Amino acid sequence: MQNTLKASVAFEGPGLHSGQPARMVLIPAPAGHGIVFKRTDIALGNTLVPARWDLVERSPLCTRLVNTSGVSVSTVEHIMAALAGCGVHNALIEIDGPEVPIVDGSAAPFVRGIMQHGVRRLGVPATVYEVLKPVTVEKDGARATLLPSDRLTIEFHIDFAEAAIGRQSKVLDMRNGSFARELCDSRTFCRQADVEAMQANGLALGGVPGENAVVFDGERVESGAGLRHSDEPVRHKMLDALGDLALAGGPILGRYVGERAGHALTNTLLRALFAEPGAVRAVACDAAMSARLPGQGLIWSEIPAEQRCVA
Ligand SMILES: [Zn+2]
Repeated sequence: MQNTLKASVAFEGPGLHSGQPARMVLIPAPAGHGIVFKRTDIALGNTLVPARWDLVERSPLCTRLVNTSGVSVSTVEHIMAALAGCGVHNALIEIDGPEVPIVDGSAAPFVRGIMQHGVRRLGVPATVYEVLKPVTVEKDGARATLLPSDRLTIEFHIDFAEAAIGRQSKVLDMRNGSFARELCDSRTFCRQADVEAMQANGLALGGVPGENAVVFDGERVESGAGLRHSDEPVRHKMLDALGDLALAGGPILGRYVGERAGHALTNTLLRALFAEPGAVRAVACDAAMSARLPGQGLIWSEIPAEQRCVA
């Protein structure tokens, strides 16, 4: 069944790349509405920005949506991951700035905010996207693939020269709230070598090492109170992948494999999936499928306290 939020919930703070502060309010929405952003700081024109793969602008470091009137919202991937991971299919997201607050660099504060009120069933089947045949895209030594599967599984492999990151791999079946338990608290990360280049290009202006991003510099790690998981970087890449896949417009049943992939490549993968004849089928979710969706059956009070995301 389609779900929405039981109550509105607000978040505030600067964006990672613009550094501009914004207040963002998640508001319950009816079945069929989908996830739609609304820029409340813009008075004229079409200020609604639907969270859809075909509205993603090419941008290497974050996922930026731009509507047909040129109105945009940047860095949507972590809030999209939180909504998908909690099984929320419908919400209006009012935001009074150009970029989603980075909060602590992870999706844990969003998951906590959503789950403190819980989700409401809307009595209408969700549309699910079943992957029917393998689709792969590659660029510059990175690869992203979707394979047929009766559930969403995310598999990710990264390989960095920085000794503190190195090679990391993880596979996770996304059923039964595993996103909330295992991925949502892993934070955005980057290499010190990239920070100056990003800032020279007007990016990462809101980044505070250790506070809203983990920064790796050779053997040294600026991570605040320490890494939250020894493999926090690959977990964050999986979090990003879930958020980017959520732009399909509904839950995907398939196995995603990312090899050094990023936001742009995952979006290219969705474009390839929907362009390839017979690669994907939109179906009304039945009870058996529903039980396999991320977030289905996730009840905050049932998650052991030590496994909750405490950001
Ligand atoms: Zn991210």
